Amino acid sequence: MLGHFLSATSAVSALSVTMRPFTSTISLVEARRRLDAAAAPIARTECVSLPAAAGRVAAADVSSPIDVPPFARSAMDGYAVIAADTRGASRATPVRLRIVERLYTGRMPKTAIARGECSEIATALPVGADAVIMVEETAKEGDEGVQMFATVPPGQHIGRRGADIAAGAVVVRKGDLLNPGRIGALAAIGQPDVEVYAQPRVAILSTGNEVVEPGQRLEPGQIFDVNRFTLAAVVAAHGGVPEPHHPAHDTLAALTQALDECADADIVVFSGGSSVGERDLIVDLIAARGEMVFHGIAVKPGKPTAFAKVAGKPFFGMPGNPTSCLSNSYVLLVPFLRAIARLPVLPERVVRVPLGRRIASPANRHQFYTVRLEGGAAFPAFKGSGDITSLSQADGYIEIPADQSVIEPGTVVEVTLF
Ligand code: AMP
Ligand code: MG
Repeated sequence: MLGHFLSATSAVSALSVTMRPFTSTISLVEARRRLDAAAAPIARTECVSLPAAAGRVAAADVSSPIDVPPFARSAMDGYAVIAADTRGASRATPVRLRIVERLYTGRMPKTAIARGECSEIATALPVGADAVIMVEETAKEGDEGVQMFATVPPGQHIGRRGADIAAGAVVVRKGDLLNPGRIGALAAIGQPDVEVYAQPRVAILSTGNEVVEPGQRLEPGQIFDVNRFTLAAVVAAHGGVPEPHHPAHDTLAALTQALDECADADIVVFSGGSSVGERDLIVDLIAARGEMVFHGIAVKPGKPTAFAKVAGKPFFGMPGNPTSCLSNSYVLLVPFLRAIARLPVLPERVVRVPLGRRIASPANRHQFYTVRLEGGAAFPAFKGSGDITSLSQADGYIEIPADQSVIEPGTVVEVTLF
């Protein structure tokens, strides 16, 4: 599971005195519990072509209509023989067999093998043969003959019909992630397409009068929209279809209209306006349109995160600060989205390296601290919740338990990689 990040600096220092404080926050564990309870795996399915099925989740069992291989085949280039004919054969005492057919790939053999005979073989096994001798253990003798230098047992280098997949066998089960191996199995049984679960549609929208789209001229007081792009990248990487919208202004009317425009999505993710302040309208929007599941989590960064049900649909109100927004996307949105998309829980990737520089951490707070890896050591990367470089210049994070206030350089730390 991906962790969360807590900053050494205050993520809420920007909150002005006019803002209403959080009445309560819930723990990260409780937030995760409520999200798990709200995550209903997607039921819609669709049929996609095999090349488009990679990384998708099978929506039905698929069983094979054919035997694979569809005929008995050789595992090696060489000669199809009757094993008994090679008895006693060695380099010193070769056995000579007569070649009755040359078999090329894609053609079925026409001639059965009788005692003293063999066929040059690449794939399909002729009738009568019960073993294959590798070309390396033979020598041609004129056009018709071949010397066998090895004694082979019956069955040597032969794959019998259906040995890989028997007709009727299930090759992919409902709920299986279609990884390259499973795509290969579907190809082997000749499936041109496959029924998969639909990918959740995730509406993404940034709020804030100051937020403008890249490509526009930045007027005084404006900033470019970051969250829409980080959120879309996270969603696309974890089995969702991002549906980005234009930024919405900080009025209840604008937010309500924006919410209506997201009505077709399976999940709605807004960012900004989620703290409880005079201009932070997510709370009012939810009060008008849905039911708050939680608002405020005891994590840092990312405390002002809301989760609600709006018209029965999951709604995330992410913090506006780009690092808070992205870190809580890893922590909360990724597992939630993957559960809805029916993708397996992400395995953590962890490296153990010495710390390159001292990190101070406030006591009584469990911190998640972004670091970058350099020369086999971990260096602090965290700047602030509003600084996207806290993440763009980091490779992962370390966790600093509440009872620890300092980590000295040289201490071996566990870095969870992004
Ligand atoms: P808010 O949560 O709306 O109070 O925003 C907190 C901080 O994040 C403010 O400085 C905003 O300007 C900034 N911010 C909000 N939304 C975005 C966004 N989409 N991209 C970049 N910065 C943002
Ligand atoms: Mg705002």
